[in-house]
Amino acid sequence: MTTMPKKKLGKKKRFLLDHPYCCFCGGTVPSTTIDHVPPKACFPDGYWPEDFEFPACEACNQGSKRDDQLTGFYTQLLDFNESNRTPQDTAKITKLRDAILRNYPDALPDPSTSVPIHQVGSIITPNPIAVSVQRPATFAQTMETFQRKLTHALYYREAGKPLTKSHAYLSEHYQIQGSDHTLTTFLGALLPQETIGTRTNIKNYGERFGYKSGYKDKEDFFMYGAQFGKGLIVWGIVLGPGMNVSSLADYLKSKSWRWAGYRETILIPCEITEAS
Ligand SMILES: [Zn+2]
Repeated sequence: MTTMPKKKLGKKKRFLLDHPYCCFCGGTVPSTTIDHVPPKACFPDGYWPEDFEFPACEACNQGSKRDDQLTGFYTQLLDFNESNRTPQDTAKITKLRDAILRNYPDALPDPSTSVPIHQVGSIITPNPIAVSVQRPATFAQTMETFQRKLTHALYYREAGKPLTKSHAYLSEHYQIQGSDHTLTTFLGALLPQETIGTRTNIKNYGERFGYKSGYKDKEDFFMYGAQFGKGLIVWGIVLGPGMNVSSLADYLKSKSWRWAGYRETILIPCEITEAS
């Protein structure tokens, strides 16, 4: 039997005493582990931001292991401009790719589908600036897990309580490409608070991960936009138990809303979205 160093055990115990319930499955299951969101795999070794630790039950923490590893790979791969990458990033991506190739070969993009991209916004470039590949089917599944955990974690961080099974949420992602920053600018202007992930011992953290959010406690309404490097944006909206999807604008009503507090994806029942 191995024993953890006393100091480490003490820190974990203290954290779980302060955060007694898992924040990913409804807020009623006791927490027994500390989960990192965004997953550590999104960052070079030792670079994950401090204070992004969350209380989780064993099932919620272990249940996303595959998707955590894949999220790390995809978020770094989707950084559109390769010059944003440091040698450490490249080393991490290569290491992740090799691990994925061994464990989940279906999760890698198929290079035979690659098409050169000759365009940035409305400007046509003489030489290809990148290649576009078809997303593997696993990508959608991984992003869904990632978006679910990120929404639960950021709500917990900002509202100070777990999402329950009576909350509904919507979360989507997009890749920033060229000059098309319309939605990014809109989200940035809408949301008041900015939080940049940092580590006290690393001075130049760059723009690896940050998010903007807003929370209205009376309505229990939460919204956020999170950015990974310069390539990927994940955004989300949470509705409190008293709020109804049918009262939203048509654009939002037509989206795939999900019930919060479940380990697997549960779509909000149709009768609620269609009621007027
Ligand atoms: Zn849980």
